[in-house]
Amino acid sequence: MVVVGAGIAGCMAAATIALKGKGKVDVLLIDRNPSSEVGKKNTLGWVCGDAVGEHHIKYVHDRVGITYGLPEMENHVTAVYVFSPDMKIKVPFEGPGFVLDRPKFGRRLLDDALKAGVDYMGNAQATGLIAESGRVVGLEGHTTEGTVNKPFQIRSKVIIDSSGMSTKLRRSLPIASNIEKEIDKDDVEPTARINARLSDGIEVETNHCDIYLDQEKAPGGYLWLFPKSEDKVNIGLGIQQKRSPKPLNALLKDWVATDPRFKNIQPLSDDSNLNGAWQVSVRHQNDCLVANGYMVCGDAAWFPNPISAGGIGPGLIGGVMAGIAAVKAVEGDNFGEEQFWQYNLDFVERYGSKTAGLEAFRLYLQSLNNKEINYGMRHFLSASEATEISLGEMPELSASEKLVKLLRGLGSYKAFRGLVFTMGRMKRLNELYQNYPKDQSEFSAWKKQVDLVLQEVRHRFN
Ligand SMILES: Cc1cc2nc3c(=O)[nH]c(=O)nc-3n(C[C@H](O)[C@H](O)[C@H](O)COP(=O)(O)OP(=O)(O)OC[C@H]3O[C@@H](n4cnc5c(N)ncnc54)[C@H](O)[C@@H]3O)c2cc1C
Repeated sequence: MVVVGAGIAGCMAAATIALKGKGKVDVLLIDRNPSSEVGKKNTLGWVCGDAVGEHHIKYVHDRVGITYGLPEMENHVTAVYVFSPDMKIKVPFEGPGFVLDRPKFGRRLLDDALKAGVDYMGNAQATGLIAESGRVVGLEGHTTEGTVNKPFQIRSKVIIDSSGMSTKLRRSLPIASNIEKEIDKDDVEPTARINARLSDGIEVETNHCDIYLDQEKAPGGYLWLFPKSEDKVNIGLGIQQKRSPKPLNALLKDWVATDPRFKNIQPLSDDSNLNGAWQVSVRHQNDCLVANGYMVCGDAAWFPNPISAGGIGPGLIGGVMAGIAAVKAVEGDNFGEEQFWQYNLDFVERYGSKTAGLEAFRLYLQSLNNKEINYGMRHFLSASEATEISLGEMPELSASEKLVKLLRGLGSYKAFRGLVFTMGRMKRLNELYQNYPKDQSEFSAWKKQVDLVLQEVRHRFN
């Protein structure tokens, strides 16, 4: 087995194969980074907000017996709060979690994989897949030593593509399959972050992460402050490019310059983790994750949550699931799409059944201005309903509650009607995912229904 990309998803998939395959499966993990910089997303560093939900960490512990702790888990938080643009309303979102030391977490993931028996090949860039008779049977690429590139070809029963947002492998998948190859550019958010020390005398609370909705400071996205300690923070923002009159870095600079908490802030570069930007997807996952001889996982499969852009958790749990599917394929001596289908089912059941609904909610949210968001957060939704929506669940409203909301909603009728429309489509999408096809024969007809609902939502809010 070959796993491409030693980020969150790839390390987890490789470790799972080695642990569950109990020495009977050879697994090679390759990455363009040397092992000393494992998990680095680009030349600037481990560009991430570093926050992950506790339930994802627990899943890894329960399934593969790995427990994380210090130094990679830098801070524990009891909640994530989402603030309205006027900062007058805050609602809890997603629940407890951790803020990671990302370079150390990456190192820990690789160490666990190596300990389990995975082989690592660093400085190795995958450039394409090799296909024969409608199946992926290997990959090609080159290793780099100094300025010299040496080409390689590797044959393999399965390639797991966890090479992140920039994957070339999924985009040029050389066989017929149900996997979508391209993503709409409006579903990709440019995102930038700074790890920094606050000035003397300025402190933040360490027991919660904050997300700030503001269509002027972060058009179509949000700003965040995730605390690592009282005076150490990860701050950043993501935007939808087409809604923003300014470039990403200019917006980040404006925020840092105007928020008093960031006066004389000192950017950090621990472990060569510099400030920088990268892309994150905010759509539902690729509806099919498997093909003959090939599986896709993590950012390469658009796993991040469409509202929060959180991709660490789904990358971890998806890595475990892809790894288990790979080991079962060895046991069944079958490496075809039908054999791997269980990975689709497992991912949808645990996480993916809510993401299309969340994508619909994200499209709605992006269409509102600050005034409408302030109004909506004050009048339309209670804190518990907002939390339910953030988890992709539909709050059940009684007839009298609907009437109260309707009357309150009259102050911003367009936004209220948009919310009612969106909740209806979220419900429909959630129902469709409850009936995710049990095998590939029903996939195309099912997928058409999902696409139709999402097209309707896009049409309304674009
Ligand atoms: C600014 C920002 C903030 C974010 N904040 C959060 C957050 O707070 N919480 C959260 O949960 N998520 C967050 N995310 C998303 C999260 O970082 C990703 O979802 C997560 O890192 C995905 O892990 P991955 O393993 O799929 O991909 P990656 O971490 O991108 O790893 C991909 C790996 O593949 C390697 N690779 C790529 N191409 C090749 C190739 N051709 N050959 C060999 N190797 C290759 C890369 O070197 C890299 O090591 C954020 C993202 C950004 C950009």
